[in-house]
Amino acid sequence: MSEIPIEERGRMVEEVHVPARTAAVVEVRRGQVLQVVDLEGQQVGDLMAYRQGDPSEYLSPGHTLSCLVKLMPETGDELFSNHRTPLFRITRDDVNTHDMIVPCCDPERYGRDYDQPDHPSCLASLQKALAEFGSDFAAPGESAWNVFMNNRHEDGRIVTYEPEHGPGSAIDLEVLEDLVVALSACPQDLSPCNAYDPTAMAMRVWEVED
Ligand SMILES: [Zn+2]
Repeated sequence: MSEIPIEERGRMVEEVHVPARTAAVVEVRRGQVLQVVDLEGQQVGDLMAYRQGDPSEYLSPGHTLSCLVKLMPETGDELFSNHRTPLFRITRDDVNTHDMIVPCCDPERYGRDYDQPDHPSCLASLQKALAEFGSDFAAPGESAWNVFMNNRHEDGRIVTYEPEHGPGSAIDLEVLEDLVVALSACPQDLSPCNAYDPTAMAMRVWEVED
């Protein structure tokens, strides 16, 4: 794994803007680097990833925790599918807090906990983006990885804190299989998840140059 920043050893070939409270899709190929960027800071992204040609295999936070035998992935770790195939490897991480336990926010979450069933949600955003991409991929909420989420585990409880990272913070993911990736800029403005102010994100695709 190279420790040289991708900006110094690669060429950006695509950038997908993810406006606040929406989701977007990008396709990546094995060998590329997918960079998830928080443009304005203190923002969480919910990421789903599917294998090209077989979307029944997808990134699974639960299987990743099982394979890693830890609650928080770290730089150098691989992220696994529901069939325990490595799909990504973390090569840089500006933030180091990423929840892999709770599902993404969904209409039921806002209805049950806030009496706002029509509130925007990551699940609805991801389903909309995947449909607009032309797919009929299943999008179960528990398959979303909560990138940059500052959840801590305290005496058996899961406690959400405001993110502490600033604008431009990124995580770089070496792509290990051809994938379709969907990212939601989480619209949660009723908990500390996004510091009560959802903002935009970006996905940047880098080609590695030797
Ligand atoms: Zn969300």
